[in-house]
Amino acid sequence: MARKAPSKARKSPLPRLLSNPFVLALAAVAGVFAIAMGVATLTGGSSGGESGKPAPVQQAAQQQANGQQASGQQASGQQAVQPPPVQSPPVPAAKVEPPAPAPQSTAQTETESTGKAAAEKPAPAEFRPPATTVAMLPPPAPPSQPPVQAPSGNAALWRKNALPAEVPQGKPMIAIVIDDMGVDRKRSNRMAALHGPLTLSWLPYARDLQVQARAARANGHELMLHMPMEPSVKADPGPNALLVSLDRGEIVKRVRGALDSFDGYVGVNNHMGSRFTADRAALAPVLAELHRRGLLWLDSRTTPNSAGIGLARELKMPWIGRDIFLDNQDTVAAVKAQLAKTEQVARRQGYAVAIGHPHDATIDALASWMPDVQKRGFVLVPVSTLVRMRHTGG
Ligand SMILES: [Zn+2]
Repeated sequence: MARKAPSKARKSPLPRLLSNPFVLALAAVAGVFAIAMGVATLTGGSSGGESGKPAPVQQAAQQQANGQQASGQQASGQQAVQPPPVQSPPVPAAKVEPPAPAPQSTAQTETESTGKAAAEKPAPAEFRPPATTVAMLPPPAPPSQPPVQAPSGNAALWRKNALPAEVPQGKPMIAIVIDDMGVDRKRSNRMAALHGPLTLSWLPYARDLQVQARAARANGHELMLHMPMEPSVKADPGPNALLVSLDRGEIVKRVRGALDSFDGYVGVNNHMGSRFTADRAALAPVLAELHRRGLLWLDSRTTPNSAGIGLARELKMPWIGRDIFLDNQDTVAAVKAQLAKTEQVARRQGYAVAIGHPHDATIDALASWMPDVQKRGFVLVPVSTLVRMRHTGG
């Protein structure tokens, strides 16, 4: 009995509790609360959950990536890095970006150091942090190089325009330079018709200069510009001559005008100029302009006081000086005598530069002398060949 009582007592408590109105009320409240919590959990998961947050972050990451691709098109390395972060979680993507600008700015620095055009593309770097600013510091250095490299860059012009010439070893060489070309068309044509090679120096105010000069070049002669300069004697050097009374700007302007009158020449020598070439300050900007254009300087030595060769040495530009004037006496015999002197100089120093003019006597003397000169062991060369053998620079 005693056992039954407890067993009944075990079974009885639940029904008793269920039958208790307070318990039922509590259970009902608990049930309602549980349902409310469940609903709250479901609605909260859809509206304020994490699935909504990644979307804006990813969009931001994609926008940043797109923006950088648009602004930094040249940074191919960065573009290769960007795509993976977009697919991976947004947070890592944001952390990957800061390092990315570094290679981009480095690439820009390299392009800027190699080309001037890159200097026009600093825009992508401007919105970069200080690190980029530091990387941008080197570019200012390259701009200082062009002025230094410009002469060497143009230095090949006299070589480029040089008449090709074979130079046999051990034979004395002679360069015949004919000045004042182009004004006396008839005699200039006669001179240019000779079988050279001669070096023909043209006055910048000659008519049809480009046509005359090209025809002469096609006939196997080298070309020079014969720059009119002020003499110390009473003589007219011609229009736009260089005068010691001119200021530096006007001198350079006249030189440039003459240099632009035709092309294809290897350098410049002075027409007259016994006063001008003796004025070092006046001549300096002239040679500087020739050097800048990569041209050689032939000093006609119309005065022993010419500053031309000293200046050319200081500038380390290609130069050479005249040895003999062929036709101060305008007879065939006198010119032939000067040609003989030219040969003596060539034997002695290995080469000689003789200057003549398109005169009948000079043309006739050269016409008979040139065919025999090689038979007597000399080599006729354009003046650039002599300069090339003496000048090691540009
Ligand atoms: Zn002259």
